[in-house]
Amino acid sequence: MEYEAIIGLEIHVQLNSKTKMFCDCPNRPGDLPNRNICPVCLWTPGALPRLSQKVLEKAVLTGLALNCEIQPRSRFDQKIYYYPDLPKGYQLSQVHNQFARNGWLEIIGEDGESKRLRILEIHMEEDVAKLVHETEGRKKISLVDFNRAGAPLVEIVTEPDMRSPRDAMEFLRDIRRRIRYAGSAECSMEEGTMRVDANISIRPRGTDLLNTRVEVKNMNSIRHVGEAIAHEIIRQTERVNAGKAIVLHTRLWDPERGVTTPMREKFAGPGVPDPSVPEIVITDEWLDTIRAQLPEMPDQRRACFVKEYGLTPEEAAVMSSERDLAEYFERTARACSLPRAAAGWIGERLMPALKERSQTPADTSVTPSRLAELLEMIDREEISVSAGKEVFALLFESESGPRDLVEERGLRQVSDTLELEEIVDQVIADNPDAVRDFHNGKKQASGFLIGRAMKASRGKANPKLMRQILDKKLT
Ligand code: ZN
Ligand code: MN
Repeated sequence: MEYEAIIGLEIHVQLNSKTKMFCDCPNRPGDLPNRNICPVCLWTPGALPRLSQKVLEKAVLTGLALNCEIQPRSRFDQKIYYYPDLPKGYQLSQVHNQFARNGWLEIIGEDGESKRLRILEIHMEEDVAKLVHETEGRKKISLVDFNRAGAPLVEIVTEPDMRSPRDAMEFLRDIRRRIRYAGSAECSMEEGTMRVDANISIRPRGTDLLNTRVEVKNMNSIRHVGEAIAHEIIRQTERVNAGKAIVLHTRLWDPERGVTTPMREKFAGPGVPDPSVPEIVITDEWLDTIRAQLPEMPDQRRACFVKEYGLTPEEAAVMSSERDLAEYFERTARACSLPRAAAGWIGERLMPALKERSQTPADTSVTPSRLAELLEMIDREEISVSAGKEVFALLFESESGPRDLVEERGLRQVSDTLELEEIVDQVIADNPDAVRDFHNGKKQASGFLIGRAMKASRGKANPKLMRQILDKKLT
């Protein structure tokens, strides 16, 4: 029998607000353990949580970036469970009345058609503390770090609309791009600011059954999510084919072995309304001010780059992948009116160079206007492409403009016909064999002669002009 997979995701995203969710402690879980703490986030009895306005703003911005309907009223519940990373015995989370619902986004499916994936809801919740397991001599000890306790999270819960590992990976890449555009979170799975759980079940293709699902955790890159889902689909299919049942449980992805293994679960009780945090009321006026902060989203930018700048869809996808990169591209393209050249140079040269130097498009000294000036000089054939590459590298080291660097280094392209004619005459005189080959019908001999002539000009000759002169002299 042929099976298809039903996949839904639960994604925890740590908002990048300066403070935690309910207190003024810094939202920096990576600092020295237990430095960023206070009575509220240590969950001391009697200390009252107060929802940060900034956290609410970032949560709402995230919801808007994912096309959600922001709810005028929402509230927190106490999600009850006992575990050493949650000594107060409950987590503040929006179990029943979430702040955002009915979102969606569109990915391009395997068949090339666009496919809408729905988001059931997004809720706010506080992060729990972190357990650190260490070995002291022969003793194993566990320590608790409260820096992460009360860190601001949103949890995105999707509908089970994904059918393949690829769908899930595309979905994750898209929400990461959108949330990074919105500026509300960094969404790095490697750094733990985006954590993904996948719910996977299988059913005979063509039916609409919803079978028992298995939850898979512990994936720390988007690639791992794809691998874990692919493995889990095979595992479940083999079980079902062997006549064994699938039971509801949680598994951990083991990236080293490439398999999922069962894990012990935390038991969480139902959500009980929390009396300590007041109901959150969002007015239309306030919502409008947040909506106004939302920039154009990556898919809109991509479409605009194709339509207005004539980029290919592939070039547009790269140029719109990050907000600051998209802005860099637009500023460069506008400054020189050479959008295709700008996309090419940014994609092939600037991005690798920035990565190598740990710079970003926003903070590099190779500003859009400097790059635009360089591209214009190449376009007007004032310098050759190879001289352009040389100047490009110099832009990182020097504060001079491209034009000054070209003058300083004597890189201006030679377009002086007399000078070029002299070079060509010399090359023809020095290479009688190649000239004879050319006249005997070996057209590639002219390529050899051009190469010689360019070399003689030390790369500074205008290649187009050089070719014209050579062609004229050979015939
Ligand atoms: Zn605190
Ligand atoms: Mn959660």
